[in-house]
Amino acid sequence: MNELDSEVMAGILERRGFSEVTSEEEADILIFNTCSVRDLAERKVLGKIGRLGKLEKRPLIGIAGCMASSKKEALFQKVPYLDFVVGTNNIHELDAILDEALQKRPVTRVSPQFTEELDYKRAKRKDSIKASVSIIRGCNKFCTYCVVPYTRGREVSRLPESIVDECKTLADRGYKEVMLLGQNVNSYGKDRPEWGCSFAALLGRLNDISGLERIRFMTSHPVDISDELMVAIGALRHVAEYVHFPLQAGSNRILRKMNRGYTVEEYLQKVQKLRALVPDVALGTDIIVGFPGETEDEFRQTYDMVEQIGYSNSYLFAYSPRKGTPSTRWADDVPKEAKEERLQKLIDLQNRITTSHLESLIGKEVEVLAEEESGKDATCLKGRTRTWYNVVFPGSSDQLGTLQRVVVQKVINQTLFGTIIT
Ligand code: SAH
Ligand code: SF4
Repeated sequence: MNELDSEVMAGILERRGFSEVTSEEEADILIFNTCSVRDLAERKVLGKIGRLGKLEKRPLIGIAGCMASSKKEALFQKVPYLDFVVGTNNIHELDAILDEALQKRPVTRVSPQFTEELDYKRAKRKDSIKASVSIIRGCNKFCTYCVVPYTRGREVSRLPESIVDECKTLADRGYKEVMLLGQNVNSYGKDRPEWGCSFAALLGRLNDISGLERIRFMTSHPVDISDELMVAIGALRHVAEYVHFPLQAGSNRILRKMNRGYTVEEYLQKVQKLRALVPDVALGTDIIVGFPGETEDEFRQTYDMVEQIGYSNSYLFAYSPRKGTPSTRWADDVPKEAKEERLQKLIDLQNRITTSHLESLIGKEVEVLAEEESGKDATCLKGRTRTWYNVVFPGSSDQLGTLQRVVVQKVINQTLFGTIIT
């Protein structure tokens, strides 16, 4: 989501006459689009900006993103040579913010709620084959550990016509894949019942756009996945069979404390139904280890769930207390070493599971979108299967952006290698 917001900001800068440079030393303006989900991300940004104070030529420096939204003016104390702060819901004001900042006035624009549609069609896209498309912003879930509802505000769905129009434009420009983004895409449209467009219905409309080969989406909150949506994922030709379906924890006590809104049993039922309706579906997850009070036995339950479900990939995190979130009322009492050990156990488990999934594909045919050149002399192409696995195969640049049938020959470092079936 931040990458997309950066592309939108880059589009605004380009229209002002700026162009992109490759090093910080050359820049007249630097904007750091930040993440607050974990403490480490915040510390990295502050360290990075701190080092920039030593640059000979001082550029205009701004902080955008969730840190801007949560820390606001306080950032001027932390970073003395900061010029402006632009919250996640204020990107549309960037031009006006720059006007003020150029007159050497410190500027802070942070709104609690997303209200203005962004100029997505004029975003400066990094990629020419795949594009991220925002469909819903904010989050209403209030998981007790998470800053997102505070930094991005409540859920705001984007008008379906606007999404369809952007995707058509992307397809006309030669894009083959869209990644529909939302903290919880399954809630799409619920804030605007008068539109009569659920997420499943939106997928149906996007599936009809000619030229768009693949539609991906993330993230799917387990509470809000509907039967209608599962059926749509299975039935729609261009919707990829991959669902990022964060579990977070495998113990009911911890799930309740996290305010996730489901039990392990309910989650498993949804997985079962999804697998029945979408036989080739691959599942991804997010897990937090070391949540306040998590016992060794409760961690073991998470471990067992990950093993039982057999995710194709997972994002694994050690709990990091975030100021202003409800979970800070409990002591962050799982020792650092225990968190690291639990994390490592899950990483090892996930590596084993992923490798075994990948090895089971040897000798099989997969559909790959050729997304980029690969290898030292660019004699190979790289892309992903419908289920999000990386594949490398011999090919040439004129095949970029095409779908290829590839037969898998081997697995190295969790990447599939194969050859095109002609
Ligand atoms: N909306 C998405 C996730 C957004 S944040 C969802 O609900 O799945 C991405 C991931 O960061 C979360 O799924 C969670 O696993 C992790 N995360 C969020 N807050 C965290 C915290 N305080 N400490 C550690 N991990 C956290
Ligand atoms: Fe955060 Fe929970 Fe919302 Fe995801 S669903 S963004 S984890 S509050």
